[in-house]
Amino acid sequence: MTKNQKFPIPELLAPAGSLEKLKTAVLYGAGAVYLGGQKFGLRAAADNFNQEQLRKAVSFAHAHGSKVNVVLNAFLHDSDFVGLSDFASELKMIGVDAVIVSDLGVIKTVLEAGGPEIHLSTQASCLNASAAKLWKSMGVSRVVLGREASLADAAIIKNESGLEVEMFVHGSMCMAFSGHCVISNYTQGRDSNRGGCAHSCRHEYKIALNQSEQEKNAFFMSSKDLEGLRLLKEYVEAGVDCLKIEGRMKSVHYAGTVTKVYAEALAHYQVHGNFLSDRIEEWANELRKVHHRAYTQASLVEPAGQDSIHNGQDGEGVESAVAGPIVAVTNDAMVIEVRRKFHDGEELELVPFQGPVQVFKASKLRSLSDMPLTETKPGSLVKIALIPGASEHVLVRSTGL
Ligand code: SF4
Repeated sequence: MTKNQKFPIPELLAPAGSLEKLKTAVLYGAGAVYLGGQKFGLRAAADNFNQEQLRKAVSFAHAHGSKVNVVLNAFLHDSDFVGLSDFASELKMIGVDAVIVSDLGVIKTVLEAGGPEIHLSTQASCLNASAAKLWKSMGVSRVVLGREASLADAAIIKNESGLEVEMFVHGSMCMAFSGHCVISNYTQGRDSNRGGCAHSCRHEYKIALNQSEQEKNAFFMSSKDLEGLRLLKEYVEAGVDCLKIEGRMKSVHYAGTVTKVYAEALAHYQVHGNFLSDRIEEWANELRKVHHRAYTQASLVEPAGQDSIHNGQDGEGVESAVAGPIVAVTNDAMVIEVRRKFHDGEELELVPFQGPVQVFKASKLRSLSDMPLTETKPGSLVKIALIPGASEHVLVRSTGL
């Protein structure tokens, strides 16, 4: 610990829905990433990793000093267990640092297979020290607390159980006890507990509280998104070991930007021993630039209530979009994989792995074969003039929508 620092710095755990997102999160400061293999996880629609991609992921993360946790957090029926034991052994051999598990049967299978260390998933809704002690006696080394736990609960669970404690710091919430919901099963035939959640709670529904009242439309089950930025001091002082960012299904822009904000805030604490930074507003502003609903502190201090309902559509808070990540740098140009159209001379932002965002004007826009262009097409590779701070996986953003 540094001389100003009174408490250990928590690990920052970022979502890695693909190899590109994994590299981006690691380079922007994630101490660990979590991802899904092709079975046994809860994000069936994510770009999940095959064994070869898993090897590459572990190799890249470890080479940069970051850990890799693999989610095995589906609740399984007996017929789902085929191959789980071999998969757990392979994960250990590949060098995966931990698996995130909800189902007791999966915990038993991973332990018997000599798999990686086990972190209890938030899906298991651990909210008290008594439960944590029991999970510990069953071989779990870390609990990811249920989203209903407060920071005060976290301190008690940490002190009384001696287990590592992980808590969400940012991202989407679940209106049920994480994943213990079958709305998507009933409305869309998609099983939330097998990766099929269709976010049915975020849709607009008709509501009439009594027969005399006229029906009205409302998003009454849609939670705002969690933002723990202004409570980082409380997370640290509660002894939380790991801060988790939700969002394996979200964009590379989200993975890089949100990871950078929290990594820089934690690094600030490491040097100065506080979060009273005049950069808090700058970081909060960055968090408004990614796809999000309105932000809430959910149950971190007081139980979430009506103030945590987001009465609107997904993503209405987003304030900028990624023009594209840099995929290569030459002597005089950076090559951008275009995600959103921009034109020559447009004001853009370069988001370096560390330090403030740099605003610049795109110049010398051209194709890979150096044909001058006036504007770009999404999906294409283009070159623009090199500026300081550019390197592979750095994000380039448009300054507005
Ligand atoms: S539909 Fe909503 S409440 Fe249900 S599991 Fe999905 S996110 Fe949670």
